[in-house]
Amino acid sequence: MLPAFYESVLGLIVKTSTDLPPDVRAAMRGAMAAEPAGTRAAQALAIIAQNIDQAATGEGAICQDTGMPTFEVHVPRGTDQIWMRQKIREAVAAATKLGKLRPNSVDSITGENTGDNLGPGTPIIHFDQWEKDEIEVKLLLKGGGCENMNIQYSLPTELPNLGRADRTLEGVRKCILHAIWNAQGKGCAPGAVGVCVGGDRTSGYLHAKEQLFRTLDDVNPDPRLAELEATIMGTANNLGIGTMGFGGNVSLIGCKVGVLNRLPASFFVSVAYDCWAFRRLGVQLDARLGSIKQWLYRDPSNPMIPMIDQEGFVRTGREIRLEAPLDEATVRSLKVGDVVLLSGRMFTGRDAVHAHLMKHEPPVDLRGAVLYHCGPVVKKEGDSWTVTAAGPTTSIREEPYQAEILRRYGVRAVVGKGGMGTQTLQALKDSGAVYLNAVGGAAQFYARCIERTDGVSLMEFGTPEAMWHLLVRDFPAIVTMDAHGNSLHKELEAESGEKLKALGQQDFSGSIASRS
Ligand code: SF4
Repeated sequence: MLPAFYESVLGLIVKTSTDLPPDVRAAMRGAMAAEPAGTRAAQALAIIAQNIDQAATGEGAICQDTGMPTFEVHVPRGTDQIWMRQKIREAVAAATKLGKLRPNSVDSITGENTGDNLGPGTPIIHFDQWEKDEIEVKLLLKGGGCENMNIQYSLPTELPNLGRADRTLEGVRKCILHAIWNAQGKGCAPGAVGVCVGGDRTSGYLHAKEQLFRTLDDVNPDPRLAELEATIMGTANNLGIGTMGFGGNVSLIGCKVGVLNRLPASFFVSVAYDCWAFRRLGVQLDARLGSIKQWLYRDPSNPMIPMIDQEGFVRTGREIRLEAPLDEATVRSLKVGDVVLLSGRMFTGRDAVHAHLMKHEPPVDLRGAVLYHCGPVVKKEGDSWTVTAAGPTTSIREEPYQAEILRRYGVRAVVGKGGMGTQTLQALKDSGAVYLNAVGGAAQFYARCIERTDGVSLMEFGTPEAMWHLLVRDFPAIVTMDAHGNSLHKELEAESGEKLKALGQQDFSGSIASRS
């Protein structure tokens, strides 16, 4: 029975996790061309480009958050879907063991990690029958940072900076712009949005995510939606959010809109936000053997063109070297916009560690320490651990804990992505600490900044959530919140909010069909 099916699915997972598809690469090349050299956005994009190449050549995960594996499978009549589901699950477990997927499936009540990405609801596998005599398997790996930026609107509604969004395509346009603005850098911009107009709350989100299986450069066959997509692509980059929310000319690399019928009483607009690490591939399989007949989204006969032809991240000479543990005077001398190269010891800590530290003493001395919001992919080789992917996770999730941890334990730097809120900003000021924004998704780049792993605490939380002790060298990041009460995130949110307001005041109802 389909002797090559398991190997084909495993190959699909590995390729999806490690090699960004050509349409996304092209969009990211466009972003690089649009940002002037020496800007924060250009530096971040250089790190991203280097990371994409490192992941492809070393077959490592592009981002450490390999997300929720979502399979869309089309099968001919008479196919044994129960058997196929089992083989897909086995392939997911094998890819996790190989370190190509991070163990990401946790019990929602206890937080316990299953360790193999299998559990109730994970992975997601949708089957559909079709008339063709072949099997098609498509896979989307979408991480938590961007998944948390998904949003659903019920129209009519009032939107900040944009005013009322009616039950028209003009109202839909406002919702999409709001979703992009709302994500700022938290979803690792520049991102792409899949949108569904209509449906119910459940089918709307599903259809929005399905739009992400379209290529970024296709044209919507519905002229009304094609125009809406073009309008969004032509205006959203005026928001100035830029790569990682650092400011810049490119905030969006794709907008794909679908439509479903709705109940007369409902009008939902569902938006699925995906990050620059837009991992989606597919295969067409022989219906009798399960072997790969053709790849979708990529052509293996065309060699992969590297994103960069020389050095990626180019130092300007203005970078500030920091050696952890850090002292207060050094940290207070830093200001928003400084680029730092961090060396010494870092401790990882994300959701479980932060919750733990609220009730227990830390397992290590955190005075002067650098706390890295990161859930790495780690591999055990003999008695030692190797970190194979280690980009930052979204920091705002730790906002309820961070201020107290800074004050209580003397942490001097927090490294993450997307910025934090007002409580943390106040605590940075009070205790003399900084927030350093690393480049989200650059998991391979940052893994190569780690000289070695010299310990681990709180392993009971599972590998992504444990506290890893990392010795790093020249780890680049940007000061985006300093010890003087300044926050680049706050500034850019206000500035882009003004630009959003201006976009809201423009009336596109004449150019995009407007129907109740
Ligand atoms: S690139 Fe950013 S948002 Fe995307 S999966 Fe990685 S950490 Fe999450």
